[in-house]
Amino acid sequence: MDFELTETNREIQKLVRTFVKKEIGPVIKGYEERREFPREIFRKMGEQGFFGSCFPESVGGSELGFLNLAIICEEISKAHPALGYAFNMQSMTCPFTILNWGNDEQIQKYVPDLIRAKKIGMFALTEPGGGSDPAGAMKTVAKLDGDDYVINGSKVFITFANEADYGVLFAKTDVSKGHRGISAFIIETDRPGFKAQPIEMSGLGYMTRSCEVFLDNYRLPKENLLGKEGEGFKIAMNALDYGRLTVPARLVGIAQGALELSIDYANERILKGEPLGKYQMIQHLIADMTVEIEAARLLLYKSAYLKDKGETATRESAHSKYFASEVATKATRAAYEIFGGYALTDEYPVMKYMNYANMLHMGEGAPNVQRVLIAEDALGWKDANRHQIKRRFPLKSDLAVLSKS
Ligand SMILES: Cc1cc2nc3c(=O)[nH]c(=O)nc-3n(C[C@H](O)[C@H](O)[C@H](O)COP(=O)(O)OP(=O)(O)OC[C@H]3O[C@@H](n4cnc5c(N)ncnc54)[C@H](O)[C@@H]3O)c2cc1C
Repeated sequence: MDFELTETNREIQKLVRTFVKKEIGPVIKGYEERREFPREIFRKMGEQGFFGSCFPESVGGSELGFLNLAIICEEISKAHPALGYAFNMQSMTCPFTILNWGNDEQIQKYVPDLIRAKKIGMFALTEPGGGSDPAGAMKTVAKLDGDDYVINGSKVFITFANEADYGVLFAKTDVSKGHRGISAFIIETDRPGFKAQPIEMSGLGYMTRSCEVFLDNYRLPKENLLGKEGEGFKIAMNALDYGRLTVPARLVGIAQGALELSIDYANERILKGEPLGKYQMIQHLIADMTVEIEAARLLLYKSAYLKDKGETATRESAHSKYFASEVATKATRAAYEIFGGYALTDEYPVMKYMNYANMLHMGEGAPNVQRVLIAEDALGWKDANRHQIKRRFPLKSDLAVLSKS
């Protein structure tokens, strides 16, 4: 067991920090003020290979692997929580799902442009009937009509849907079969019958706009079926297993950002002639944040390490997502305590960290749902890691491959 980051990991961390300073820092405020989607920043992150970390070179990937992806995503989210979403849509849940389940033609057509962020991706599973019960709640249907599927229905909370070019969308092709009747599709948003309506979300900026999506006789060639008919539920759950790498990475980044901000403030703010950090109750908050964030980071790195070994690691991803969301909500709340009233001003991004931690708490598997999965596994009722779905494309960075060479 080795807890040291490798030299490559540390170099990547440094590179991302420099990128954040040079390429994001000077322009991000402008995007926020203009309420503009930061396509150009996405494109630059894509060019750097940030999104292609877990993709083979044959599709333009950088083959750096899952641990490096977690490190990159953590660093970006630490500085700019809103930009962390890019790692779900341009890397894990959208193109990685196409890479894992698509045929060669689909992979070549969609994946390279998504990971370079020349095109924006989305992942459309949740419906108004309840995100925690995706199969039961799913009313969207797809019917084969000649050489096309015709899709009707609606989705909710679909991030970037108003900006997306492509997406992975789930619909029932056989309503009589429950979750076995769900199929996955690669959709193109410029076809008639697709409409995305942004939802106003309090506390989250424009860059993380989630939308209602309406599909009204939306036609798609049958070649755009992803995997086989009826495989959609398996594809969705597998996609979420990978999404549960970038979500905790974002949460750890956010919590670390809040901690670093709090440390600076506790050293600089003088109260009754003493720096705030001299007060024991402030020290308790800083101590808890420090240790809990490190624990969340270790769970995250463990799940990334297992993925680098070729495992799906459903159990470890659930542990990591659940714990990181608890830690980040607690840490950002602690930052609020430390900053007092100044937390609420625009001078410091404390509320931004807090809002994003709360938002991520719910996404990619609500906390109670993660708890149910973890408890059923711990009780010995359902082995969380029972579905180890082999990745289609091993990467050069895979530990299994490296250890053989
Ligand atoms: C900002 C944002 C962005 C999102 N982006 C996307 C996206 O891009 N694509 C997408 O498909 N979805 C997206 N989602 C949807 C997200 O995955 C769902 O919000 C989430 O799955 C929860 O679903 P729900 O909101 O319908 O809550 P519900 O399913 O109604 O759950 C409500 C509460 O009940 C709890 N609960 C559920 N089951 C149990 C149980 N068995 N026992 C006890 N308690 C339980 C949950 O923990 C939750 O706290 C996004 C959500 C948000 C907020």
